[in-house]
Amino acid sequence: MAQQIPVLIVGGGPVGLALAADLGWRGIDCVLVEQHDGTITHPRANAINSRSMEFCRRWGIADKVREVGTPADYPATIVYCTTLQGPEITRIERAGFGGAKSLPTTPERIQRCNQIWFDPVLRDLATNFPSVTLRYKTRFESFETNADGAVATVRDLATGTEEKIAARYIVSCCGGASAVPKTLGVKMEGMPVLSYHLNIFMRIPELWNHHDKGKAAFYYFVDVAANHPNLVMLDGREFWRLSFSNETTRLTADSVDVPAMVAKFLGPDISYELITAMPWTCRSIVADTWVRGNILLAGDAVHQHGPAGGFGMNTGLGDAVDLGWKLAAMVEGWGGPHLLESYPLERKPVARRSVDEATDNMIRSRFDFIDETALRRVDEDSAEGETMRRRVEDDILNNKTKHFVTEGIALGYRYDESPIVCPDGTPAPPNSVSEYVQTSRPGARAPHAVMKDGRSTIDLFGRGFVLLNFGGDPGGFAAAAKARGVPLTVVGIDEPAIAALYEKKLVLVRPDGHVAWRGDAAPTDAQAIIDRVRGGTAG
Ligand SMILES: Cc1cc2nc3c(=O)[nH]c(=O)nc-3n(C[C@H](O)[C@H](O)[C@H](O)COP(=O)(O)OP(=O)(O)OC[C@H]3O[C@@H](n4cnc5c(N)ncnc54)[C@H](O)[C@@H]3O)c2cc1C
Repeated sequence: MAQQIPVLIVGGGPVGLALAADLGWRGIDCVLVEQHDGTITHPRANAINSRSMEFCRRWGIADKVREVGTPADYPATIVYCTTLQGPEITRIERAGFGGAKSLPTTPERIQRCNQIWFDPVLRDLATNFPSVTLRYKTRFESFETNADGAVATVRDLATGTEEKIAARYIVSCCGGASAVPKTLGVKMEGMPVLSYHLNIFMRIPELWNHHDKGKAAFYYFVDVAANHPNLVMLDGREFWRLSFSNETTRLTADSVDVPAMVAKFLGPDISYELITAMPWTCRSIVADTWVRGNILLAGDAVHQHGPAGGFGMNTGLGDAVDLGWKLAAMVEGWGGPHLLESYPLERKPVARRSVDEATDNMIRSRFDFIDETALRRVDEDSAEGETMRRRVEDDILNNKTKHFVTEGIALGYRYDESPIVCPDGTPAPPNSVSEYVQTSRPGARAPHAVMKDGRSTIDLFGRGFVLLNFGGDPGGFAAAAKARGVPLTVVGIDEPAIAALYEKKLVLVRPDGHVAWRGDAAPTDAQAIIDRVRGGTAG
C-alpha cells in the first residue's frame, strides 16, 4: 500500500474536478478516481452562474470558460410558442445575462457553457497542478476507517487490478446514481421522483434560419399532447437539446417517436443528427448526512433537483469551494477540530434552498393550472386560439419567469448560522431569488467593488484569510493568526466608496470569500475570533 495521501476524491464530474482543482491551487496533494474515461456524451448543466464564474476567475479559467462557452452576442432570450413553425405566445429577454460587461455586484456575469465544454476546462486546470493526480477508469469500491482516516479499495477497470489507497479524507463527489452514499448509510430526504424526462442531444447547424422566432436560448413549446417539450440551445451554433417529460411514466429512447417530434416541433423539413438520448429522473432530495468522520460528500451525491433555475452544478461547485480551504487547513495543520463540522452546517441550508426553489420552479412551469381542453386550442388560427395564447402568456409572465433571473440565489447565499462565523447582531437581509444586495454582514459573500488599480475586491480573496482595513486598528489579529499558523494578510484600502460598501472599518474575509467577522475596532480578544473562524472552538 502506498503512502497515505491527504485527500482521495471519488468522482470526476464537475464537483470532484472543482475540488481537485481547488486543492491543487492550494498545493494540497490529492488523488481523484473516476470510473469512466472522462468522455462526456450528453449535455447536462448549461449555466455557469456568476458565483461559479467568480470561482473560475480565482482559478484563472474564467476567460477559457467564456471562450469555449456560448458566444457573448448570442441572445439569452426565452421564447414560448406552440412549435417553431407555429404562433409565438410570448418572449422574455434577459439583457443582463451573459456577455463580457461587468455588473455592479460582480466582475463575472453568468455564462452559458455546457458541461460538455466546462468539465474539460476544469479537468485541464486540475491536471496542471503537480499535487493533483486524476485516475480515470478507476472505481472506488469500498473503504475501512482507521485512526489516520481511511483505506479505500479501488479497482483499475482497464486491468481489473485491485489497489488500496490510504487517505486522511475521502470526499465522495459520486453524483446521484452512485451506491456510495447508501453504503455510508446516508438517507435522502424529500421526493425521490418528481417527473421523468428524456433528453435528445442533436446537431442542427443554424436552426434559426428555418423558422421565424429568431435566435433564442430556450424555446418552450406549449402543447398538451406532448406534455410541453422544450428546446435548449447549447453552443450558440449547432448543438441543441430537445427535452420531453412525463409526471407518471418513465420515458425511454424508444417511448418517444423522435423523428415525428422533431418534425412537429422544429419543422417537417428539418434535418438533424441525433447524437445521444438520455432518460433521467427529476428528484427533489437532500441527504440527511454530509459527513461521517473523515468521509465527506458533495454535489449531486447530497442534493438533487430539477434543472429549472440551473442550480444543481453551481450548488455543487459551492460545496467544493467550501470544502477546498477547510481540507487544506486541516492538512496544513491550522484548521481546528470543529472546522469540518461547519461544512454541512453551511452548505446544507444552501442546498435545501436550491432544491426547494428548483422544485417550485419545476411545478410552476407546468401548464396544468389551465383547463386542458381549452389549452388544446392554443395553436388554433382563430379568435379562441388567440384568446388562449393571451391567457397562456398571462400565466407565463405572472408565474413562470422567476427562475430566469436568479442572482439572489447565485450570489446571495449566506452562512448566517455557521459556527465559524461571528454574528454582529445586525438583522439578516431578506432572501430574494432574483435580487442580490451586497453586504459585508458576517456569513455573506464579501462585496465586489472595483479598486483604483482596476482589480475587484474579490480578487484579494482566496489563498488565506484577509483582514480588510478601512482605516481601523487591526489590533492583535495578525499576532493571533500567527500564533495558530493561520495564513492572514492585512490589506489597507483607502477608498471611501468601498469603505462605505463594507460598512465597518475592519472586515475579516475567509479564503472562500465569505465574511467571518466585522467591526469598527479590533476585538479585545482577537485570539478568540481567530480560533472560532478556524474551527478551533465549538462555536
Ligand atoms: C438535463 C439537466 C440539465 C441540467 N442543467 C443544469 C444547469 O443549467 N445548471 C446547473 O448548475 N446544473 C444543472 N444540472 C445538474 C448538473 O448536471 C449536476 O448537478 C452536476 O453534474 C453534478 O455534478 P457532480 O460532480 O456532483 O456529479 P456527476 O456529474 O454525476 O459526476 C459524478 C461522477 O462520479 C463518478 N462515480 C460515481 N461512483 C463512482 C465510483 N464508485 N468510483 C469512481 N467514480 C464514480 C461518476 O462516473 C460520475 O462521473 C442539470 C442536470 C440535468 C440532468
